[in-house]
Amino acid sequence: MFEKKHEMLRKLAKEFAEKEIKPIADEAEKNNGYPEGLMQKAAKYGFGGITIPVEYGGAGGDYKSLAIVVEEFCKVDAAASSLLMSNSLSGAPYLYFGTEEQKQKYLKPMVLGEKIGAFALTEPGAGSDSGATQTTCLWDEEQGCYILNGRKCFITMGPICDHAVVFAKSDLNEKGTRGISAFIVEAGWEGFSRGKTEEKMGMHASVTSDLIFNNVKVPKENLLGEEKKGFKIAMSILDAGRVTVASQGLGIAAGCLDLAIAYSKERVQFGRPICKLQDVAFKLADMATEVECTRQLVYTAADKLDKHEKVTMQAAMAKYKAGEVCNSVAYKALQIHGGYGYMQDYPIERMSRAARLVSIYEGTSEIQKLVISGNLLK
Ligand SMILES: Cc1cc2nc3c(=O)[nH]c(=O)nc-3n(C[C@H](O)[C@H](O)[C@H](O)COP(=O)(O)OP(=O)(O)OC[C@H]3O[C@@H](n4cnc5c(N)ncnc54)[C@H](O)[C@@H]3O)c2cc1C
Repeated sequence: MFEKKHEMLRKLAKEFAEKEIKPIADEAEKNNGYPEGLMQKAAKYGFGGITIPVEYGGAGGDYKSLAIVVEEFCKVDAAASSLLMSNSLSGAPYLYFGTEEQKQKYLKPMVLGEKIGAFALTEPGAGSDSGATQTTCLWDEEQGCYILNGRKCFITMGPICDHAVVFAKSDLNEKGTRGISAFIVEAGWEGFSRGKTEEKMGMHASVTSDLIFNNVKVPKENLLGEEKKGFKIAMSILDAGRVTVASQGLGIAAGCLDLAIAYSKERVQFGRPICKLQDVAFKLADMATEVECTRQLVYTAADKLDKHEKVTMQAAMAKYKAGEVCNSVAYKALQIHGGYGYMQDYPIERMSRAARLVSIYEGTSEIQKLVISGNLLK
């Protein structure tokens, strides 16, 4: 499945993660964000546009390449996946549904690390149920533009984004998901504001906030794709997005396993390293097997994306499995660290808190099971 270019990319991503992210991960967690300039540095290496075509500043690579970089970054710090968002949730809507002008204006600067994008679908009353969207963006004939009103919550990069793709009802006569359209909204526009930066359980370096819209004027050329096709856009982006989140889960699980192996070789109790105790060794064997199952699911899904095959069920399986596995592996890895694992001095504490998110965002584990069973039973 992998070629020489994939091996070279893994080496590069690993080096970047070890050199640029690992040494500052604990500090970034405490400071609620990475230092300014890290995203630009990642972009210089080409990580901002792994899957984005060359004409928009990217490397024109495949989804396996993206999964590799996400896995390597998340092995050291799960929040680092936010440095790669221009490849997935932030960039993909422009890439697949944007006009040439929109791609040049919004996608390219994001890939080059000059601007930050966001993907704003979730609302206080519309989480798993996007059909309950209450944000409206209605055409105003007199003013010759759309008028956006509403509130989005839990938006990754919300506190620092320069623009966002916002999903809103543009036709109130249509029920549920049918009247939803996608709009590109710039943070500097009148009526745009942000909520406070959320204080989360984990992944503090990946910042999150509400986005609030109060009579924001959205010009016609900022409609993304066709009117009332917003839900279709969101769902097709989420298939690839879920493979990326699954790669995060894989990276977290693999990183936790590495930490547990290293610690178990060093820690001596009862006169020998704890890895010599069969219960610890068997835990490591279970963890490694689960990580490998997840790896196979993730890269098979990425390969299907690369071959333009239908990936909805495989992506849901990979996301579901990775979300659950990174949590169970993080739990066992922390257990192997004993009391030290509960202290912030050890990275397993930060990794365990981060793992909890993977089974929740971009569709909870339960929603993945709905997708999988729906495909099995249709
Ligand atoms: C840190 C963070 C970052 C995020 N980033 C973004 C972002 O950038 N952009 C964005 O748009 N969103 C983002 N989200 C939102 C995220 O995708 C939602 O939180 C998620 O989809 C779940 O929605 P909810 O929180 O409203 O939970 P709910 O939908 O209220 O779910 C609550 C519980 O009910 C269960 N449930 C709901 N419906 C069903 C069903 N039909 N069958 C079985 N069980 C069900 C769920 O599985 C869950 O266990 C982010 C969330 C977090 C926490």
